[in-house]
Amino acid sequence: MPEQFVIGVDLGGTKILTALANREGHVLAEQKIPTEAAKGQQHVVAQIVQSVEQVRKKAGVKPEQVPALALGAPGPLDSCKGIIHFAPNLAWHDLPIRQVLERRLSIPVLLDNDANLAALGEHVYGAGRGEDNMVYITVSTGIGGGLIFGGRLYRGFADVAGEIGHMTVFPDGPLCGCGNRGCLEALASGTAIARDARELAACGRGAQILAAAGGDAAGITAVTVAAAAAAGDNTAESIIARAARYLGIGIANIINLLNPSLVVLGGGVMDIGEPVWQNLRTEVQARTLEEAGKSARLAAAELGGRAGVMGAIALAQRCAFGVMDNQTWK
Ligand SMILES: [Zn+2]
Repeated sequence: MPEQFVIGVDLGGTKILTALANREGHVLAEQKIPTEAAKGQQHVVAQIVQSVEQVRKKAGVKPEQVPALALGAPGPLDSCKGIIHFAPNLAWHDLPIRQVLERRLSIPVLLDNDANLAALGEHVYGAGRGEDNMVYITVSTGIGGGLIFGGRLYRGFADVAGEIGHMTVFPDGPLCGCGNRGCLEALASGTAIARDARELAACGRGAQILAAAGGDAAGITAVTVAAAAAAGDNTAESIIARAARYLGIGIANIINLLNPSLVVLGGGVMDIGEPVWQNLRTEVQARTLEEAGKSARLAAAELGGRAGVMGAIALAQRCAFGVMDNQTWK
């Protein structure tokens, strides 16, 4: 039998990352292309097809040598039926993406949530290697997460488990994109940090934040707030400390509820570094029950922007060569 390979695709709002790997998970070809979501659904599907064909040809692999391709996409979606219900950044509604891609590519397709696959990627290839009970959290523009228990992804009854960003941590807090108030995402994401800084800048506070943004409040981002904090701006420091504190509260809740051995943290806000880590560690320590807190290690994600595509590779490998956990374990 000719050698077999798997393909992983990470579909994002701005880019599509595609990789082809052998049975052992060594990546032989990889490609990043723009999603060009504004050009519509059919164009994005064509972009996915093109990127898959290109990595396959680059590696000299025929479609019949690929027993599984896994696609990670923004949800909500139905991983069993292969349907993306709604993708705000892509303006999609109820797209049967598995069926569409299988017809165009002649390769069996699996679909999963992008945060779930990033969690699986870190579990199999990143900071979570060898940890069978771990939680993955990404803190960037939004806050997402994925849960691994007994070495498998836990997707929940309706495929929506792991929405860590929408845990309420402050009942009367700021409005979240989901419509509720005081979600973790509304208090600790990069978007929340930038919003807080803009509000304070409007009151004349945080001179260095405004300077780091070139004097224009509209240009303030979590990155400019972090730069001002590093330069010693007290307002910037307190905004970051507050966001990290809420993050710590959310993580402590998760640790007390699930007793993982590891919490992997990734995303741009974590890259701010010590001011975030130090404040969240203090909060986690203060709020976790002794045994749960002692046994849960906090670690930085290792795969960065490649976590999703490596998770897609891992899911396709499990389906093609090993345990099939996509459809059988809820
Ligand atoms: Zn929310």
